[in-house]
Amino acid sequence: MSELNLRTVLVTGSNRGIGFEFVQQIINSQNSPHKIFATCRDPGAQQSQELRKLSEKHPNVVVIQLDTTNPASVNASVKEVEKHLNGEGLDLLINNAGILTQNSLETQTSEDMMNVYNVNVVGPMLMTQAYHHLLKRSGVESSGKSAIVHISALLGSLEELPNLFSALPVISYRCSKAALNMLSRCHMEGYRQDGIISIAIHPGWVQTDMGGEKAPLTKQTSVAGMMKIIFSLNEQHNGTFVDWEGKTIPW
Ligand code: NDP
Repeated sequence: MSELNLRTVLVTGSNRGIGFEFVQQIINSQNSPHKIFATCRDPGAQQSQELRKLSEKHPNVVVIQLDTTNPASVNASVKEVEKHLNGEGLDLLINNAGILTQNSLETQTSEDMMNVYNVNVVGPMLMTQAYHHLLKRSGVESSGKSAIVHISALLGSLEELPNLFSALPVISYRCSKAALNMLSRCHMEGYRQDGIISIAIHPGWVQTDMGGEKAPLTKQTSVAGMMKIIFSLNEQHNGTFVDWEGKTIPW
């Protein structure tokens, strides 16, 4: 099977952190896609300034307002993206937007649990549902394939739990990423016949607002590793859970 042909890409949470780095590296890739939909909650905000500058420099970067947890916002983004696609499909959806809150078994609240689940699981679910027809158009209908990349986390691994639990309980985050992994498997089962590959990738512990300054990995190194995986995606990757270097992570 051929390698992924990246002509059109959409990234969620692309105004900062790992999402912004994805947009930068996709722009600079050898065969830069002709449309990169860089979505974020508030394109006018201070924290989206760098993204606005990037899109002014690169006409193939289209900034689109999108709150992944809001169905109306997700549907409005599809309409906007379709205008730019002119009948083309979407080759790659990167479900990157996510949040982490610090909670132990003692401090975890139902409100926080629901909020984190909403961003980390409901968002990717709504996004993939709404963009399925465009991913399918790039997949089986254009004789190539397309992909959904879920940015997951090692902290969602059941087997790795004993190694990291005491240092980082983060209950809502762990549960949400474990659920995201299941969602990724559901996408594999449900969309295989549509030529769509679904993969969950752990970016490593990365220096971002979420990862903090002590993290060992730079955004550049993490995203470069993930881009390598994305460019080589084939059916063998479908439904897998790997880290930024391509190593399999146990569920
Ligand atoms: P950041 O906190 O730096 O950035 C998070 C991004 O998600 C921001 O762009 C933020 O937008 C966006 N976002 C949050 N909620 C929503 C929403 N409802 N709709 C749309 N966008 C939203 O995090 P990272 O870049 O570090 O994380 C990116 C992904 O990588 C996450 O899924 C995270 O779980 C995962 N990850 C990160 C690790 C790390 O060490 N950094 C480790 C393992 C996984 P806004 O600016 O508007 O808040």
